[in-house]
Amino acid sequence: MAERFDLAEKRLFEDIYICRKCNARNKVQNPDEANCRKCGYDGLRPKNSEITE
Ligand SMILES: [Zn+2]
Repeated sequence: MAERFDLAEKRLFEDIYICRKCNARNKVQNPDEANCRKCGYDGLRPKNSEITE
C-alpha cells in the first residue's frame, strides 16, 4: 500500500523542486539549469526528498 502511494506522489510532484534557501516551490523541467523563481538560488531539491532529509 505504501508503495502505491509513493508512486502516486512521485508522479504528482516529479516536476516540483524546493529551493534550499527560501523553500519556495518551483515547477521545473530541468533542475540542473533551474533557479528559484523567488530568490534566484540554484540549489533546488526534489519535493520527494523532503521526507528523507
Ligand atoms: Zn529561493
